[in-house]
Amino acid sequence: MLENAYIGLGSNLDNPLLQVKTAIKELNACKDMSVDAVSNIYKSKPLGTANNQQQADYINAVVRIKTWLSPFDLLDILQVLEKKHHRVREYHWGPRTLDLDILLYSDQVLASEHLTIPHPELTKRDFVLYPLNDINPDLDIPLHGKLADILPTVSKENLIFVEGHVELQDIII
Ligand code: ATP
Ligand code: MG
Ligand code: MG
Repeated sequence: MLENAYIGLGSNLDNPLLQVKTAIKELNACKDMSVDAVSNIYKSKPLGTANNQQQADYINAVVRIKTWLSPFDLLDILQVLEKKHHRVREYHWGPRTLDLDILLYSDQVLASEHLTIPHPELTKRDFVLYPLNDINPDLDIPLHGKLADILPTVSKENLIFVEGHVELQDIII
């Protein structure tokens, strides 16, 4: 079945804005999926303790894709793309060239060792919630309810608008 999934993108190394824009194009070019909506692009602070704040700010965006892939096959493809961007995992929430997380996969709920959907931190993160709202303000989040009701619980104060979404016609297939 053709499913809707939302992917969160983040980068804070090696020209983060370019990393994210390139990844959006690459996602659209992947077999069995196409990007059908792109959020605005934002800048956010690193997650974690004060110690972790020494790394560079993050560039974030969210895309909605249409895909024939199962959630697990989709995760595999995302991890291949992360590797293509030379992602190295040094420590949890450490700096990275590209992070691709599955935020939502249609209305599915899934909790396995390697994949949790909806993404477990989704409702706490400004850099995920506001881009989701750019794409679909009417979104219903399984287990959590309406995006419109969650949004006011997370401050937008530390989220900086960088630029409007990448035009879909600029995405080369
Ligand atoms: P966070 O998940 O808090 O955003 P992170 O994105 O930095 O942290 P990663 O190092 O990218 O974490 O991923 C660690 C593991 O998380 C992956 O190997 C993957 O198996 C698992 N994972 C579980 N649920 C998801 C999901 N919804 N999307 C992507 N990865 C997930
Ligand atoms: Mg992540
Ligand atoms: Mg990740």
